[in-house]
Amino acid sequence: MDVFRGTSIIRNTVSQTTTTISRDPTAPPALTEHAEAVGALLNDMITCVLTEDTWPGPLVLVSLCRTLDIDRAGLDLLAHHTLTALLAQQPGPEALVRTAATFAAATCHLPVADDLHRKPHLSRPTRPATAPAETHLPMPPTWACSGCAHEWPCATKQSQLLAEFGGTRPALGIYLGSCFSAALFDLPRANKQHLRHRFLGWLPRETS
Ligand SMILES: [Zn+2]
Repeated sequence: MDVFRGTSIIRNTVSQTTTTISRDPTAPPALTEHAEAVGALLNDMITCVLTEDTWPGPLVLVSLCRTLDIDRAGLDLLAHHTLTALLAQQPGPEALVRTAATFAAATCHLPVADDLHRKPHLSRPTRPATAPAETHLPMPPTWACSGCAHEWPCATKQSQLLAEFGGTRPALGIYLGSCFSAALFDLPRANKQHLRHRFLGWLPRETS
C-alpha cells in the first residue's frame, strides 16, 4: 500500500471514529472527553496495522482503558466504531483482521466490572525488526523507537506529539501515562523514576 493511500486511510478512520463516538449517547464520557488521547492511540495502532507491523500490542490499548476507567463494554464500543470506520476505507481484509485481533486481545485483559488493576499477562506475537523510517512508534517490550532506535518517545516523536495534541494538553499526559504504565510492566528492572521522567518529564510546563 502506498504511503499516501495509507495516510488517508489512517486520517479518515481516526476522524470518523472520534466523530461517531462523540455522537453516540451510549459512549463512556471518558472516550469523548479524551478524544485526543484516543485518536492518537488509534492513529499509531492503524499505522502499524497497515504497515503489517505488529502494533506495540494491545497492552497500550489496555493501559489507556485502565487510565480512563473504560471497561470491556466501552472498549467494545470503540472497536465497533473503529472497525466500521476502517471498513468504509476499504483497507483490505488483512488490515481489518489485524485490527479486530488487536481489540480482541485487549478485551480479554479488561475487567467486565470493576477489577481494574489486574496485571496483564499478554502473550505477544513476534514483530518485524524494522518499521518505516518516517514513523516513530514505540516498540514494546524494549520501548525503543521504531524510527530511530532511540528510547521512545524520541525527540522527533516528542515534537510530533506536541503538534498532534496542540501543545501540552491533559489528553497528551493521559496518552503518555498509558504508555508509561505499559512500559513499567515490560521493563520491571528499570528505575521507575527514570522511566516516568522519560515518558512524562519532557513535557513543557503548560502556559496559561
Ligand atoms: Zn524516533
